[in-house]
Amino acid sequence: MRPVLTVGSVAFDSIKTPSGEVSRIVGGAATFFSVVASFFTHVRLVAVVGEDFGETEMKLFAGRKIDLAGLQRVSGETFRWKGEYGQNLNTRQTIYTQLNVFEDFKPHIPETFQASPIVFLANIHPTLQLEVLDQVQEPEFVALDTMNYWIEGALDELKKVLQRVDVVVINDEEACLLSRESNLIKAGRAILEMGPSRVVIKRGEYGALMVSPSGFFATPGLPIEDVVDPTGAGDTFAGGFVGYLASAGTFTDDIYRQAVICGSAMASLSVEDFGLSRLLGLTDEDIRGRFEAFKQLTSFKQL
Ligand code: AMP
Repeated sequence: MRPVLTVGSVAFDSIKTPSGEVSRIVGGAATFFSVVASFFTHVRLVAVVGEDFGETEMKLFAGRKIDLAGLQRVSGETFRWKGEYGQNLNTRQTIYTQLNVFEDFKPHIPETFQASPIVFLANIHPTLQLEVLDQVQEPEFVALDTMNYWIEGALDELKKVLQRVDVVVINDEEACLLSRESNLIKAGRAILEMGPSRVVIKRGEYGALMVSPSGFFATPGLPIEDVVDPTGAGDTFAGGFVGYLASAGTFTDDIYRQAVICGSAMASLSVEDFGLSRLLGLTDEDIRGRFEAFKQLTSFKQL
C-alpha cells in the first residue's frame, strides 16, 4: 500500500439540485479525493483553509487515513463555490466561485511528504501543479485532473504539466476542449500525444472510457434511480481510481481496469446524497457491494 499525495481545493459548497438545497457544506476536489482514496490507502493532503474552517469541519478528516500536515490554515475565508443543477442533473451552472484564501495559495509540500510515490494533482492552476511536482522526489506515478477554466486560460502551462504525468483523469467535455476533437477516442489519442501514457475520460452517468496506446477499456455507469447530488463525483472517481492503484502497488492493464471500476463504484455511491454525506459513512461492505453490482451489470454468457 503506497501513500498518495494530493493537492487541491478544500471548500464550503452550496448546492441546489431537483432533490433540494444545502448551503456551506464541506466540499472541494481534494476533500472528496482524500476521503475516498483513504478507504484504500494512506493519503497526504496539501490544501488551504481559512479561519472559518473550524473544529467541527476538521472532524470529518478524523479517524481516516488522512495526514493533515500539509493543510495550511490562514487568516481569511475558505474557498466557496455554489452550483445549481438542471432537472436531468447533467447540466450544472456555477453560481459563484469565491477563491478567498485560495487566491494566494502556494502549495508547500512538507518534508515528510516529499518522497510520496503516488501523486494526484487535483483541479488547480497548472502552474501550482508544476510547483508541486518540483517539490516531490521522482514519484512512481502522477495523475492529474483539470477543468475548462485552465484549458481555456492556462493552456501553455497545462501542456507543460501534461508532459510530466502518467495518467490524465478528465471529463468528456474537457477532453474534447483540450484536444479540439469531438470524438472521445480521437480526443483520448490526441491527449496521449501530449505526454501521459493513459487517459481516463469520465462520462458522468454514462460511465468511463480509458484510452492507452494498446487499446481501450470502458464501463457503463451503474444505473442509479435516485441521484441526489452529482457534486464531487469526478473527484470521487479519481479517489477510487488512484486509491485502488496505490493499494495494488502494480500498474498492469488488469489493475488499471479494476481501478476504473473502483472509481465508478465510489462515484455511484457519492451521488446518492448531498456532498460528502454518503461517503463519510461507507463501510467495506457497501464498497464490495458496488463492485459486485458492476460485475453483474456487465457480465453475460456468450451463445
Ligand atoms: P466536480 O463535481 O467533480 O466538478 O467537483 C466539485 C467540487 O470542486 C466542489 O466541491 C467544489 O468546491 C470544487 N470546485 C469547484 N470549482 C473549483 C475550482 N475552480 N477550483 C478548485 N475546486 C473547485
